[in-house]
Amino acid sequence: MRIDKPAVLVVDDDRTTRFLATQALEQSGFHVEVAESGARALAVMSRLSPDVALLDLDLPGVDGYELCARLRRSSGGRDIPIVVMSGMDDIEAVQKSFRVGATDFVEKPVNWIALSHRIRYMLQAGSAARALRRSERKLSNAQRIARLAWWEWDIVANKLGASEEFYKTLGISEETFEGTYDAFVRCMHADDRPQVCARVDETLAEGGEFSIDYRVVRPDGSERIVHQRAVVEVNDVGAPVRVSGIFQDITERIKVEREVRQLVYYDSVTGLPNRKLFNERFNLVIEQARRHERGLALLFLDLDRFKRVNETFGLAAGDELIRSVARRLLESVRKTDSVTRTIPEDRAPTVARLGGDEFMILIAEVEDVPHVARVAERLVQAVRRPVSLEGHDIVPAASIGIALYPHDGTEPDQLLRNANAAMHHAKEGGGNRYQFYSEEMNRSMLERLILENALHRALLNGEFVVYYQPQIDVRTHRLVGAEALIRWRHPERGLVPPMQFIPLAEESGLIVPMGEWVLRTVCNQSRVWRELGLPSIRVGVNVSGRQFAEKDFVRTLSSVLSETHSDPAYLELELTESMIMSDAEASRRSLLQLKEIGVRLSVDDFGTGYSSLSYLRRFPLDTLKIDRSFLAGIPGDSDQIAITKAIIALARSLSLKIVAEGVETKNQLDFLREQDCDEAQGYLFSKPVPEVEFLEILKTGSVWPGA
Ligand code: C2E
Ligand code: CA
Ligand code: CA
Repeated sequence: MRIDKPAVLVVDDDRTTRFLATQALEQSGFHVEVAESGARALAVMSRLSPDVALLDLDLPGVDGYELCARLRRSSGGRDIPIVVMSGMDDIEAVQKSFRVGATDFVEKPVNWIALSHRIRYMLQAGSAARALRRSERKLSNAQRIARLAWWEWDIVANKLGASEEFYKTLGISEETFEGTYDAFVRCMHADDRPQVCARVDETLAEGGEFSIDYRVVRPDGSERIVHQRAVVEVNDVGAPVRVSGIFQDITERIKVEREVRQLVYYDSVTGLPNRKLFNERFNLVIEQARRHERGLALLFLDLDRFKRVNETFGLAAGDELIRSVARRLLESVRKTDSVTRTIPEDRAPTVARLGGDEFMILIAEVEDVPHVARVAERLVQAVRRPVSLEGHDIVPAASIGIALYPHDGTEPDQLLRNANAAMHHAKEGGGNRYQFYSEEMNRSMLERLILENALHRALLNGEFVVYYQPQIDVRTHRLVGAEALIRWRHPERGLVPPMQFIPLAEESGLIVPMGEWVLRTVCNQSRVWRELGLPSIRVGVNVSGRQFAEKDFVRTLSSVLSETHSDPAYLELELTESMIMSDAEASRRSLLQLKEIGVRLSVDDFGTGYSSLSYLRRFPLDTLKIDRSFLAGIPGDSDQIAITKAIIALARSLSLKIVAEGVETKNQLDFLREQDCDEAQGYLFSKPVPEVEFLEILKTGSVWPGA
């Protein structure tokens, strides 16, 4: 039993003294144990370890000196204050007491009140010392048990001292160790040294402490991972004098942690994240989507007729099939829509196996619904390739159900349920397909698919035509140029305007061959006009962002120009403001290359995006086209008048030609003339017209309003 109060052992053969001592000391808050002889005292000691012993020197049997010496040798009495009491007023007794280990000496008769104060002070001083000794002992035990190595680097003397565990961990002997900081650093893994040294330097400069994990290499070449904490000590003026640190060998722990992690979070057949890890990620990703107001897609994939594989070929073959499907899924989520690039692993969609033949694909960075549809289509295609099982080629198939956040649900459970329902739908439809949870998504995706196929066919069947819209000199009304605008002559739907198919063509990549076709058509047309003896005019061709970003664009353009024997000076490429500003540095390089070929460059839809003036100045541009939305407000809207004026002034200052688009009224034309705008294009002069009609305009050489 441990008593909260400090315990005092009083040893005296005199009953009265024992009584008085007990009275006084208990009143002062001590717990008191008494013994009337040395033998009794030793017996009490073995039961209770007192904090202080009070001994009468003159005892029967074992006398006070003897008792004191024996107490000092016992484990409980080694560190406690021992006060001896004696009526004998002689120096010799005092000296003898101190020789056998007494801490203090009091004369009888004792002043108990004074003594109890004295004991209290002794205890206070003693307890600090005892605590320190105790903690030192504990520390060294703990260090040994925890395999904690300790080191201390005296910066001034450049000496490094260390504990036994330090040498053991590093696999070196104390005798051969050089004992410097550099020698210690040499024990670290070469790849980790820079990091560790940087942290040490940093802490030396800023003070304080740091912790870091790094690898050490033993002389036999084996590696250990250690976790280190170190602290910098400074002198009176703040200069670092010592760094001391402890490190712990955590190699096993890390290994076990990895193994446990693998077991807990990954599927043992495929190595993919399992249901548990998937759920954790799913919650996290939904949280992020909520925070950033982004969309996210959950794809529930289930193999078609997987049970049959298991039944026919056995479980091992089933696992083999699951493994190859897993590989294919991983491969295809890392592919982007362009063939050349792959998505870095940490940003690719998560693929997890829920068990059986069920997989989950989580797309965290959803651009739009068609993007999800393309990924799903790719996954369906990837699964549908032959696998060889036990000498038989089988062609697996998968059904995928898709739920979209937030459209089809905002909670994980709801999304899972809906993706699962959509997957069953896909199966009912015959499998080997994907299906959105919402009907409207399915419908719009189907329409897109049909349109995309039709576009492909249109290019092959020559269903596209180019219309031309005249550009007129504002003052003279002379024809100075034209803009080429594509049209689709759909066999059933008639003339389809570009806004209904250009966006899809851009997404599917079809815009690239389509744009090349427009360029070629325009160049050929210009040559025909020239051969007819008509004056050459500048023709603007719209270039889409996707085309412009294509690394072959410059080469394609120059081969079209040379194949059609065209003069690049009459070809003007129209690039939208947002397109060239999105990556201004890269645009500048491309524009310079295009300028080198000799074509003219114009900024289309100017005023709708955000232009950096400094870039605008550094781009090799020729023309600026004011977006027609500004003209629409003229003459009524004072804001738009002000903006249009400002754009014209800006273009002037950059020495660019200005073409106003969408000029529909006489008022607008008057305004443009007043503002000193160069050219105009719009219904006021002419709508875009087919080539045969444009030929007539070209022959006339000028267009008057309302013509
Ligand atoms: P854009 O480059 O801004 O072309 C001008 C559009 O304004 C044309 O529409 C034209 O018909 C229309 N427009 C011309 N004058 C007026 C007018 O006075 N009032 C009104 N309200 N509109 C006028 P369109 O031909 O339907 O073309 C639409 C867009 O499609 C074009 O806008 C361009 O971005 C794109 N586009 C057309 N052809 C091609 C092409 O060959 N390649 C690429 N990449 N894009 C094209
Ligand atoms: Ca244009
Ligand atoms: Ca435009």
